Amino acid sequence: MVHSRRRGGLSWVAGVRTVWRVVEDGEFYCPDCGGDRCYQRLEGRRRFTLLRVPLLPRGRAVPVVECSYCRHRFSLQALDAPTTVRLSLMLRDAVQAIALAVLAAGGAESRAAREAAVDSVRDGGHPDCTEERLLTLLAALTAEGELVPETELREALSPLVPHLATAGRESLLREAARIALADGRYLSGESAALATIGAALSLAPTDTERLLTEAGQGV
Ligand SMILES: [Zn+2]
Repeated sequence: MVHSRRRGGLSWVAGVRTVWRVVEDGEFYCPDCGGDRCYQRLEGRRRFTLLRVPLLPRGRAVPVVECSYCRHRFSLQALDAPTTVRLSLMLRDAVQAIALAVLAAGGAESRAAREAAVDSVRDGGHPDCTEERLLTLLAALTAEGELVPETELREALSPLVPHLATAGRESLLREAARIALADGRYLSGESAALATIGAALSLAPTDTERLLTEAGQGV
């Protein structure tokens, strides 16, 4: 608003006023509250006003997202970040895809490996996962004949990877190594699967190798 005063007491107010309209709502991760909140996506039209009377249209305002809780406004990019609920579902899928990939690569015959895989999937967000359920999923996966279900791995991991810090991606690889090592040293199929998992997690091949060697020490 531009306030201006002219000729002794005659005051008038001129400015640009934005009229917002809700075009969409939903849930997002509010960077200000630091949690999942409802949002409203607002589009605005700017108008030149005089004495608070709207006059000429001045075009559209940059659309914003408003948190319904803290009322802070953000650019539309705020919607790109997944909600914590969505993120935990992606993580759950990733952990399961990784466990299946390791089992598919040769550990499924070993009871220790199957148990390690079930533990991993339970901790990853499927608390009621059983060995039977995992083996059913594994049978469906390996029926397609691939030793390492690469497509499934990439589909499960690629939406998650951009939102994970390096430490988070490394811990997923360590979890995979733990399953592979449950029945002793890495089998050659397991090494190949772990390398594929490392690549799908966007880890450099040298980092993958280092982490796997570290995990394998003392086995
Ligand atoms: Zn907020």
